[in-house]
This record gives sequence, structure tokens and C-alpha cells, in this order.
Amino acid sequence: MKTEKPDRAEPKAAPEGAKPKPGAEAAKPRTPRRAKEMVVRGIPVSPGVAIGPVFDTTEPPAEAPRRSIEPAEVEAERQRLAAAVAASRKQVAKLKMRLSVLPEEAQEELEPLLDAYALMLGDSRLIRGARKRIEAGLLAAETAVADEADAIAEVILSARDDDKAGLKRRAGEVREIARRLTRNLTQNPFRSFKDVPEGAILVAEELTPADAALLDPGRIAGVATEEGGADGHTAIMLRALGIPAVLGAPGLTEQARRGDPAVLDGAAGQVVLHPSAASLAAAKELLAAHARERQRLSKLRRLPAETTDGEAVELQANLEIPAELPLIAQAGAVGIGLLRSEFLFMNREQLPDEDDQFDAYAPIVDAMAGDPVTIRVLDWGGEKDMEALAEGVEPHHVGANPALGLRGIRMLLKRPALLETQFAAILRVAARAPEGAVRVMLPMVTVPGEVKAAREIYDRVARRLRRKGEKLPEKLPELGAMIETPGAALAADAIALEADFFAIGTNDLAMYTLAVDRGDAEVAHLYDPLHPAVLRLVQFSTEAALRLRMPVSICGEMAGNPRLVPLLLGLGIRCLSMNASAIPRVKQAVRALNIGDCARFARRVMEQSDPARIRELVDGFASGVTERG
Ligand code: PEP
Ligand code: MG
Repeated sequence: MKTEKPDRAEPKAAPEGAKPKPGAEAAKPRTPRRAKEMVVRGIPVSPGVAIGPVFDTTEPPAEAPRRSIEPAEVEAERQRLAAAVAASRKQVAKLKMRLSVLPEEAQEELEPLLDAYALMLGDSRLIRGARKRIEAGLLAAETAVADEADAIAEVILSARDDDKAGLKRRAGEVREIARRLTRNLTQNPFRSFKDVPEGAILVAEELTPADAALLDPGRIAGVATEEGGADGHTAIMLRALGIPAVLGAPGLTEQARRGDPAVLDGAAGQVVLHPSAASLAAAKELLAAHARERQRLSKLRRLPAETTDGEAVELQANLEIPAELPLIAQAGAVGIGLLRSEFLFMNREQLPDEDDQFDAYAPIVDAMAGDPVTIRVLDWGGEKDMEALAEGVEPHHVGANPALGLRGIRMLLKRPALLETQFAAILRVAARAPEGAVRVMLPMVTVPGEVKAAREIYDRVARRLRRKGEKLPEKLPELGAMIETPGAALAADAIALEADFFAIGTNDLAMYTLAVDRGDAEVAHLYDPLHPAVLRLVQFSTEAALRLRMPVSICGEMAGNPRLVPLLLGLGIRCLSMNASAIPRVKQAVRALNIGDCARFARRVMEQSDPARIRELVDGFASGVTERG
């Protein structure tokens, strides 16, 4: 990944009608000369081409306009301040918990600072003073905080002390905590993308999966961010929504300004700012070629996913948010192999109750009209931090390594009420579909005991619902386990005795096997699902399931890569679940393959120890098939 820096001597031209970015840039005069083309490279995350103006989203400003209030508003402002103090305290505590992953010197420097922040967020002069300004001065909470912080800073700076640097530092700390409070007071708890103009390319430092869930693919032409990896949840969301995207592009927010004309190529992983006429023409041609390709692939929709020697392969869709349902139907998926239920818990302050959940699952199950739907219970933790749960878990525990902490089934078994509610909603929904169509899946399983414990809760919930007269399917929906940790893969034989089916989550499996954060741009080059260690674990768990004639699928991002289909079929997989837009190309690949060839090819791959050689073989086989097919 490399950023080609522009010729700094040449200022950028503002496109017509573009608003300058607030702050320093606004003061800079812009020349009417055309700016030079500049390429910013990142990780190719979601294919497709976008041509449009840049729209940058930055954090809300830490300064708010001065505001007075009426006497009747005093109580509400006091409460706003209390809520902002609580939120800030939680953020500082979280920062402190994360200290342990930093180098020792950084810890030594930061720890006293965070302690000072925590003290200032207690019964401090800053908070007492701000409260008084709300009550006596009739000021809005953010104005009261800013005024009080200024007053304290002034007192500190005018103290008679030779250590001027120390005084400045202390005054700065007060202002810093005031800024945090202001951010919490003024920030909309959830980001909104309503202001993004239609056809714009959204540029941000980082997008969380919850942010991505708010994007409207009909409005936003493309997304580019500085942070993020190829198989993180934000990337998965963007692919699911079919929004062309480039993540992990260093230097992007520094270079791109609101209104800059740009071309984003999601497959090439690059953003071209101020494209030349030639680049623009090439991008338009690429857009047209994509449209023709989509047209061609749509003809495959009604054809079976069957190899040349008649072996049927189930191609299912992953669903992240209900808005994807129409895409699933268009893609010709036969069912939903992974319904990530996290969307239900995102961008809200209250946990969804049983009826909320039932109301969310029912239209999805109905829309699939008897085709299988595998609902995964909540996989919270790691990068999937959710507001509603964060509020609900007291004290909110975020370990030093969230990905290794209370995530997925571990968290649900610790908070069984959450699991009971979700099981109950799913069991009720299952009664609307033919028997066996709905299945339930547990994320982040590492030991057989977790499946066993979850099943006890599952059976108990079913008994309770039946006692209440609820109509449930005679045979309860199957309860399966995701295999997404090396521990689970290596213990697959034992887990298979407790589970009704397996779904191999290769995204996490690769992350945990290689110790590479799937969402971290810095180590993205090390994230490789074709590493022989990952492939061996896939093979091991597949064979454990096949020995027991138990259904097994792959629902990680590998499943949606047509080049990997020969290898996965060769390893014995006959069910793949992927983002809906990948289905036509994967079907095309399946229809060109012969199972005997795939099995021989997989044996050859599994003899290799070098990931680069494996990639070479995979690419070689894929181009051979394309030539033949
Ligand atoms: C996986 O880990 O491969 C998977 C499918 O689950 P998620 O991407 O939701 O973690
Ligand atoms: Mg996973």
C-alpha cells in the first residue's frame, strides 16, 4: 500500500460548487487551476467502480456554539451533563484497560494522565462548577463545561510557579477533559449519513460495522477509509451492500477534500483524486463493462449449481441486514446460510426483546419461502462492539484483547437471559417454516461443553414455550456450531458429537490461526486464508463432519471467491454461503468443474507448505478452468 503524494507546490483546485472543509483549509485561497491527479492505494474490499465527488465525514467538532437555557430546562441540562460525565468516565476506563497492550514507557506516561482524567470526571471542581453555571448562569451544559474549563485553566496558568511547562500541561488536561465532555454532549450517539449527497464517495478515517449498516447503497457511490482490513466486519457489510469500497488507505483523509472529484476502483483497491480525462474515460468504460458482466451473469440465476459430472452444490447467502433480502432473491441463492443477527443489536440504546426479534426474523424466514435459513445467535465482542449491549453490561468488561475475551457463545453463556430471549424468538419463527428449514447456530465455539450448555438452555426455552401453549415444530430446529477457532477445528470430532451441523467461519479461523487481526490495515498483508495451517484446519473439521455424515458448510469470505471453489469442493465441501452478489460468479465456477479434478487438485494443494505456491496453484487452476470453460 502506498500513497503517491501530490506535488505539494501545486494547490488543489476546488471543483465548482464544492464547499471548503471547515477549519484551516477554508482560509486557504484555492487556485482555479486544475489539480493534479493523485492515486491513493488501499486494500481492495468490495468490487465495483464509483465516480463522484468526495464527501468526508469527520468527528463532530469538540466546540459547540454558546447557548443559554430557560429555567425550566435546568434539570434536563443537569441530566445531559451527568450522562456525558458517565460516558466519558466509561471511555477513560476503557482506555485504561487497553493500556496493558502498549509498550511499558507509553503505559508509564499515560497511566497518571488517565488517572487525572478519571479524577476530573469525579466530584471535581470542573463538574461542580459546570453544574453551578447551568443552574445559576442558565447555560447549556456544553457552554457551562467550556466556561468552567476556561476559568480553571486561567487560574492554573496564573499561579506563581516556576514550572511553567507543568502549569501549561495541567491547564491542557482540564481543557482536554472538557473537550471529551463536549464531544459526548454534542455527538449524536450514532453517526448519521443522511447528509451525504447522492452519488458521493464517502471518505472517513474509520467506519464501524454499525456505521456501515446505516449506509444507503442507493445513495452512496463508494466508500474509502484509512483504517480497516479485507475481511473485517465493515468490509463484509460493504460487500453485502454492493458498495464499491477501498479500506486501509493510508494518507487518504489528509489528501481528499470535500468535493474533490474522484474515481474509486474497489477491485483494484485505489482511489484516484482529481482524475485526468484519460482516467475518467477508463473508469467509465470499466463501469459499462461491469454492467455488461452483471447482465451476463444474471442469466445463470435459474440454472442449477451443479458440476459437469452432476454433483449438486448448495449456494446460500449470508445476510447482515434485512435490506439485503431483495439482493438474495436476485442472486438466486437457495437459502440463507448465515444470518448474522448482530444488526438487531446495532445503533440502538435498548436491547431488542423477544417480540422485536421475532418481528425481525419472521419476514426474512417468510421471504425465503421454505428455503433454509440458518440464524446465528448474537456474536458480540471483539470489533463488533454494540451500543445497546455496552450499556447493558455493567460493569462493561472490555479485556485487553477483546477478540480473545468475552465474545460470541462465551458472552451468551455468561448472560443466559440474552440467549434465552433469542432462542425463544427463533423457535417461534421456526414454526412458520417447513420443518427443518430454520436452523440455529452458535458463534465462537471452542469446546464441546459450550454446545452442550447452549443446548440445555435451548431445550429449557422450548419446554417453557410449549407449556405456555406456543406452537413449536415437533422436532426442534437443528443446533449447529461455527468452527472458527483453531481449538474448535482441532476438537471438531468431539464438538461434532454435540452439534447437529458445522459451519466453518474461515474469517475468524484465519485470524486466530495466524494471529492476525482481520480488521487491522497494518497487518492486512499477513492475513491469508490460503495459509496451509488454515487449510489444514478447514480440511480437519470438514472430515470430522463428513465421518458422521453431518452437514458442513463454509460461510466465511472464502466461500464467495470463485477461484477457491475447486479447492473447497475438492476438500469435500458441498455447501457454500457467501455475500449474495458473489453467488453468480461462484455458480459459474461450479458449473465448469468436475469433482474428480477438484479432489486431485485439493490433494496437490494440501501437500504444499508455502502459501505463495498455493496461491500460484489456485490461480493456475482457475485460469485453466476459465480457458476450458
Ligand atoms: C467467520 O468468522 O468466518 C464468520 C463467518 O463469522 P463473522 O465474519 O461474522 O465473524
Ligand atoms: Mg466469525
